[in-house]
Amino acid sequence: MILTKSLGEFKKAFESLPDKESIGFVPTMGALHEGHLSLVQSARKKCRHVIVSVFVNPTQFNNKQDLATYPRTLDADAALLEKEGADILFAPQVEDIYPEEDTRIFDLGGLDKYGEGPRRPGHFNGVAQVVTRLFDIVRPKYAFFGEKDYQQLAIVKYFTKALGYDIEITGCPIVRESDGLAKSSRNTLLTPEQRLAAPHIYKTICKARELKHTLSPQQVIEKIKEEIDSNGLLETEYIEIVDGTDLKPVTKWSDSDNPRLWCAVYARPVRLIDNIAL
Ligand code: AMP
Repeated sequence: MILTKSLGEFKKAFESLPDKESIGFVPTMGALHEGHLSLVQSARKKCRHVIVSVFVNPTQFNNKQDLATYPRTLDADAALLEKEGADILFAPQVEDIYPEEDTRIFDLGGLDKYGEGPRRPGHFNGVAQVVTRLFDIVRPKYAFFGEKDYQQLAIVKYFTKALGYDIEITGCPIVRESDGLAKSSRNTLLTPEQRLAAPHIYKTICKARELKHTLSPQQVIEKIKEEIDSNGLLETEYIEIVDGTDLKPVTKWSDSDNPRLWCAVYARPVRLIDNIAL
């Protein structure tokens, strides 16, 4: 694997790839875990070459503290990717991605109206800025994103198509710890007590699959929220039940044939997100 830390280095490594028609791309912010590696494995199955980026994108952070404390572990990331058989690790500098301020505003098809959208203003526009910039540099045929960030996956699919990129977007299932907690780079920021409390999120949201037979979507949300918040270390920011395709709120079960519950929960100051199909 070639580790490249600038655009110049990346371009040189890119030129050495013999089959540019078969590039699979996995964009990440690093602090890699098995969730990320599952995307690399999917890419390897489908593509001759796999390029992974590690870039903590400042334009998608609306919280300065979150950006400052985001874990950065490039050496360990490189070792894991080498083992997974990635061809190139692209770990650019901010100036490589944003030689000047990126002022582009993207059409996100209204898919940012609920969920993370209103709680993290500008977040998905920042995601679109970095992903399009990376697509232009890496020029992949395939790109792989996790369902962990379900709304992001839907939004990436939307703007990839709307902007006419010839890139197939593949969504990969959520990889969880053995206690059910969705793997996340931010899990390393939890205190030992918070880490013990955090699986309560997934365990509780799974109960919605039973509750939906007797309660309305709103009642399910209230019940789940109450139960998550009954753990003193957790504090629900939001729980929503949306249609898995148009991402609009489901107010009655007949509204959707693939309802999805998504949530953000604080184990302060760490913010955890999760989602499941109902
Ligand atoms: P991040 O580094 O958090 O920006 O994530 C990079 C990519 O890995 C995104 O497409 C995420 O959805 C995906 N990802 C992160 N955690 C998981 C997980 N636990 N399971 C599957 N995919 C994940």
